[in-house]
Amino acid sequence: MALEDVRKEMETCRRCSACKFIPLEMVNGYENTYVCPSIARYDFHTYSAGGRMVTGVALLEDRVGYSDKFIEVVYNCQMCGACDVACKYAMDMEVLEPLYEIRFRCVEEGHTNPVLDKVINMLRKQKTMVAGIQSKRGDWAKGLDVKDASKEQVKVLYHVGCLTSYDKDLWKVAQATVSLLKKAGVDAGIAGANEVCCGGRAYQMGYKEDFMNQAKKNLEMFKKSGAEIVVTSCADGYQAFKVLYEKCGMKPDVEVLHITEYLDRLIKEGKLEPKKKVDLTVTYHDPCRLGRLGEPYIPWEGREIPGHVRLFDPPREFMRGTYGVYEPPRKVLKSIPGLQLVEMGRIKEYTWCCGSGGGVETSNPDYAAWTANERIVEADSTGADALVSACPWCEKAFSDSINSQGGSMKVYDIVELLDKAV
Ligand code: SF4
Ligand code: SF4
Repeated sequence: MALEDVRKEMETCRRCSACKFIPLEMVNGYENTYVCPSIARYDFHTYSAGGRMVTGVALLEDRVGYSDKFIEVVYNCQMCGACDVACKYAMDMEVLEPLYEIRFRCVEEGHTNPVLDKVINMLRKQKTMVAGIQSKRGDWAKGLDVKDASKEQVKVLYHVGCLTSYDKDLWKVAQATVSLLKKAGVDAGIAGANEVCCGGRAYQMGYKEDFMNQAKKNLEMFKKSGAEIVVTSCADGYQAFKVLYEKCGMKPDVEVLHITEYLDRLIKEGKLEPKKKVDLTVTYHDPCRLGRLGEPYIPWEGREIPGHVRLFDPPREFMRGTYGVYEPPRKVLKSIPGLQLVEMGRIKEYTWCCGSGGGVETSNPDYAAWTANERIVEADSTGADALVSACPWCEKAFSDSINSQGGSMKVYDIVELLDKAV
């Protein structure tokens, strides 16, 4: 695939602006109408998906070049996919795909964001997207007596992810996950110092070759561990393993589950019994890459029939975010005695991004923090005591924002709450 291959998608854009908002009948208040953080923040059409597609066509026709402004517009986007599902509410066209292709083209032609180049250099040297030394990647598990899946066979391989491995504030999430897997009697292990980045964030940032290199390394590890199931508590990892690997012709030969899907299964099977009360009212934030961007990949090969109406032979099914992982996290929360779940306005496929995606937390931390803060205001309006998510990037974005603004809302990962209850 190349930028030229998505030209038809970009030209199909009707400039209707639906990609900026959640569908009208789902709007429950003026403050919750926007779904695209980029347009909400920068308030100029170019910063929307539709605007970026117009720019993509202009790039193909040499009507714009790689100016600083062009690069700024391309990278001030979380690649959260909200535009894609909002547009597809009415249209049969790809929206996120051209945004990826524009970034791939920028990287191929050497017009990148220098801040993101540094992150990629770190990935190439240390196999991580956050600062850290490979040999220390498994330090969070010291003393936990967990199997090393790079040396012995396991049934379940727990892929921890870069951020949780190196951010000491998040070690509690990985430790709670191991605690739950042990309580359930699961034959699980980690790759520890031999675990490497899933590559998902490199893909989002446009560095496709680096993504492919990481995918190959992870597939080797999956095979070496003998695992039947790979679980991850990172939404980036989930989207990479579940969707992007298959999309790029490297479908893993294992079952890929987000930890919330696996915990939901273990509860159903009676292997985990949440009995202790956790008296808390929480609201759940759907991570973009677990929800709308985590739905199973739908392969399609065929041709578009020329004409005014878009028709495909054979008929094509579009990914619209409907089949993302929405219920398992909610079921796990509802299984916890004493815990009350209240919902925000923008949920499931119309969730508002935490701000971290697409490399924005590194390239434009102010914009990332603003995006996180918008969500915290929304969470606060529900009356919940805590904002709960199922991805370390979301948890960090929200915690950092609350700490800097001095808010009182607490932030948890689901596994922390479940571990308290079991
Ligand atoms: S991308 Fe879709 S929703 Fe956005 S302006 Fe174009 S046609 Fe409308
Ligand atoms: S991916 Fe997210 S931030 Fe980027 S244009 Fe689409 S909705 Fe906006």
